[in-house]
Amino acid sequence: MAYMGSDLTAIKADLRRGPQTTSRRSASTRMAHIVTENCIKCKYTDCVEVCPVDCFHEGPNFLVIDPDECIDCTLCVAECPAHAIFPEEDVPAGQESFIRLNADLARRWPVIALKKTPPPDAQAWDGVPNKLAHLDRGEDRREDRGEDRGKDRGEGVEHARRIA
Ligand code: SF4
Ligand code: SF4
Repeated sequence: MAYMGSDLTAIKADLRRGPQTTSRRSASTRMAHIVTENCIKCKYTDCVEVCPVDCFHEGPNFLVIDPDECIDCTLCVAECPAHAIFPEEDVPAGQESFIRLNADLARRWPVIALKKTPPPDAQAWDGVPNKLAHLDRGEDRREDRGEDRGKDRGEGVEHARRIA
């Protein structure tokens, strides 16, 4: 089937219907796409709106692709202004760790399917090398842990007693 211009709706509908209606690779040769380092602190989110299977997951300053959900349609690659998305076999040298990182963080972070406003300093971070050190995995956010919420409440009560 031929697609005209940016007929994204038709493409997404075909991909949802199944492999017989598209030219995408078969399930046996399917290869996940990987979000790599330059997405960190850029997070434009243009990519999420084109994904027909909603396999992007959002962390505090980075997005990942769930490799078990990605259908290898390649639609997201051209959408990324930071050129951060690659097929697994083409991940740039030195960024192979992002293959595992995408799989691991996709299990922890929620799905994102709608574009958001990028961070105000996204452009300044585009192309900055060695951004992995700035990756926020969300592990330190206390709201992620129920016991810390209880601890915070206890500390708040204690603080209120002290200043009363
Ligand atoms: S468009 Fe690129 S930089 Fe933006 S969130 Fe998606 S992968 Fe990250
Ligand atoms: S290649 Fe990109 S748009 Fe296509 S399914 Fe995978 S993550 Fe989604």
